[in-house]
Amino acid sequence: MTNERFVYVQTFGCQMNVHDSEKILSILAEHCYRPTGDVRRADIILLNTCSVRAKPEHKVYSALGRFKKLKEKNEKLVIGVGGCVAQQEGERLLERVGHLDLIFGTHNLHRLPDLIREVQAGRAPVCAVEFFEEVQSLNTVPMPSHGEKVTSYVTIMQGCDNFCSFCIVPYVRGREMSRPRETILEEIETLSKRGVREVTLLGQNVNSYGKGLSEGLTFSQLLARVNEIEGIWRIRFTTSHPKDISEELIRAFGKSRKVCKHIHLPFQSGSDKILEMMNRGYTGDQYLETVEKLRESCPEIAVTADVMVGFPGEDEGDFLETLELIERVQFDNLFSFKYSPRKGTKAARVPAQIDETTKSHRLGILQELQKGITLKKNRALEGRCEEVLVEGTNKVTGEEMTGRTSSHKVVNFKGSPELIGQLVKVRIEAGYANSLRGKIM
Ligand code: SAM
Ligand code: SF4
Repeated sequence: MTNERFVYVQTFGCQMNVHDSEKILSILAEHCYRPTGDVRRADIILLNTCSVRAKPEHKVYSALGRFKKLKEKNEKLVIGVGGCVAQQEGERLLERVGHLDLIFGTHNLHRLPDLIREVQAGRAPVCAVEFFEEVQSLNTVPMPSHGEKVTSYVTIMQGCDNFCSFCIVPYVRGREMSRPRETILEEIETLSKRGVREVTLLGQNVNSYGKGLSEGLTFSQLLARVNEIEGIWRIRFTTSHPKDISEELIRAFGKSRKVCKHIHLPFQSGSDKILEMMNRGYTGDQYLETVEKLRESCPEIAVTADVMVGFPGEDEGDFLETLELIERVQFDNLFSFKYSPRKGTKAARVPAQIDETTKSHRLGILQELQKGITLKKNRALEGRCEEVLVEGTNKVTGEEMTGRTSSHKVVNFKGSPELIGQLVKVRIEAGYANSLRGKIM
């Protein structure tokens, strides 16, 4: 007989959710639950969900449908839903999905072991969606055990106060709360001792880090402190908001050796009319000016962004302005989405919603344009020597090594696993749509 218990976690959505899932596994590991990739072995199934758009939300319901049979076979199986859908739907989700045992909201990760015990003791469904005033759910969560990982996420803040009119995040993640500097620095020091060489600082709007803390520290000052940590060679952060990016931060790209030459700076639309309706707090020209300043400070900086098409009221002219902005900036890459109405947000109540066919048509045109730009940018690197942090073996080929440039581009090259965790010089031989191929020098 074995006492081993297994947890299966399925993650939907962005890096924050990926990182929250790491935390979930870490918390449960302290209670003797081992992760499994085989759902049939699981004693607990947890879905960590996203409700930023309708599509990932629908996927949660289909996944829950698939797990119903497992529950019928094993009544001790605990099935739980966490993350944004859990926060948004709460009890309604329990009513809708009869075989669900547990709902844990975005501020309740640290309570998971207790909540699971409560379910197991009473076999009655449990719903925990309270918001907490303090960042205790950030600080009391143990760090993920990283094994041989070279890169790691570090949450520096949670929630958002911006209320972009299309966005559900402030409602499901709560008000913006920054994590005290010391706990962040301690976490990064520990990660460095475990062999992590690159950290990505995470928050919905990292540029406003520090608001509400008594420490009076700006994001750039936090970066300077992280920069001092021995063993950390590279620092990334996401997401930056164009309205809050400071001159000090722009200078940091040129000045700080460890800050990677890449910024993810979502612009959402190139039309001032739409940007205002979105409540974004900048114009297209202001966005272009910011990119110009970033390139002055650091000429090699790679710029990526999020953009959406089909926001209510977006006409052909607005869409053309978005395409024009893309042409002018020449982004290294773009994450592009069809606007998806989210219940409770201001934009969802605007009558002039755009039909799906128009959205898909616009998205197709935009993605085709960006595909060409990305390929051109990647090909422009051919013949150059890039410093690559080796992260592991290429999962697709299983033979080559893979890593990233400072500008966040994936590079595949022949090499041996001893290189993992090292910075190596690679000559770029070919630039493709999604990656680069190189030869170690
Ligand atoms: N905090 C980041 C910012 O301000 O850019 C973004 C966070 S959001 C989770 C990630 C991206 O999802 C956004 O930049 C936006 O492009 C997209 N997004 C958010 N709400 C959306 C919606 N209702 N429909 C489609 N895309 C949406
Ligand atoms: Fe959403 Fe806007 Fe906050 Fe980003 S800044 S999370 S898009 S409300």
